[in-house]
Amino acid sequence: MPVKRILVVDDNLANLKLASEMMECEGYLVDRAIDADAALAAIAAHAPDLILMDLALPGMDGLDLTRHLRSRPETCRIPVVALTAFAMKRDEERAMEAGCDAYIVKPIDTRKLPGMLAGLLGASIR
Ligand SMILES: [Mg+2]
Repeated sequence: MPVKRILVVDDNLANLKLASEMMECEGYLVDRAIDADAALAAIAAHAPDLILMDLALPGMDGLDLTRHLRSRPETCRIPVVALTAFAMKRDEERAMEAGCDAYIVKPIDTRKLPGMLAGLLGASIR
């Protein structure tokens, strides 16, 4: 099975590094983006199998970026996992309404995330 590619989008560089390295340790190929423009450029260069999406981004936020991806035939099927620091029920609802497939609260639970991602990617990579 080919290695799965994950795009991590987060404007906080420490979070971006942490999440990216966590995914690399799980064996995924990781692209990184610090905002919506960088994410769209990365997606255009090589479509990811899944996106780990911080919702709070400068400029176009993660909700709008998810809606944008959902509206386009070439990106509408890419699973999006929303990542947010705010453990608010309303945020989870907004993420799901925008088209996200799952929702996780920072700090990332390193015991749960790999299983969740493997499930969304359709199969374990191990
Ligand atoms: Mg942020």
